Amino acid sequence: MATKKAQLQQGNNLRDFTQRDELSDVTLIVQGEPLYVHKVYLAEWSPVWRAMFVANFREKSAQEIELPGKELEQMVELLHCIYPSQKAINEENVHFLLELAEEYQIEKIKQRCEVFLLSGNTDLESLLLAQRYCLDKLYTKCIEGATRLTLEDLEKCDEFQQLEPRTLNTIYKSKINTMRDYASYIKEKEVAMEKECNKVSRERDRIQSKLQTVKMLWETPSKRCYRHMGNTAMFDFSCRECNEKVYREIKKLCSELPNNRIN
Ligand SMILES: [Zn+2]
Repeated sequence: MATKKAQLQQGNNLRDFTQRDELSDVTLIVQGEPLYVHKVYLAEWSPVWRAMFVANFREKSAQEIELPGKELEQMVELLHCIYPSQKAINEENVHFLLELAEEYQIEKIKQRCEVFLLSGNTDLESLLLAQRYCLDKLYTKCIEGATRLTLEDLEKCDEFQQLEPRTLNTIYKSKINTMRDYASYIKEKEVAMEKECNKVSRERDRIQSKLQTVKMLWETPSKRCYRHMGNTAMFDFSCRECNEKVYREIKKLCSELPNNRIN
């Protein structure tokens, strides 16, 4: 007869490990409570459990294994995560699940914890977990995040003191690389701007020289009409031909100037 607790858990599609199961062949004792589980299934997940069951079988053939120092709720949560119910990793269970998965070498649970953490804030708290449990992808992503902090902000974080030297080294190296990349970006920009600046200067000189030529037109007797060509006097604004010649010259010079230089 199922207890109320078991019924509740069945409603959630979660196994009640405190209830006897005719197929369970080993009982884990946690905080004095029995958890009925299946050797073969657990052994598939954890080489530590496999070794434990093998040793237990050889030495005592006992069906009960005491797990001292473990929390009942945490062990049940771990079992829910590895049994077919595959309970999800969340903010509440991720820390102790990582610790248990590390102890029992349950790689798949570690991977699922890492995937969960990767979906959240990759802050220094996550970096500490990545550092502690060797979660490489999370480690790399958290280092990227830490690299974006200023050294002052980094040192102000509570977690700073717990960063291992190798982690600090990686962050500093990454910061140096970022600065080097930024410096070469600035250098490239500088070269491009210098090029642009030279181009504009040449353009300015060209326009200035054209304008100077235009200005000189009125002072150049050879640019006047055939009647006033040899005339050294000031330009005669009253002569229609002189004006037309100069006008044509100006028009020609202006057509050689670009219309819109600045885009
Ligand atoms: Zn004239």
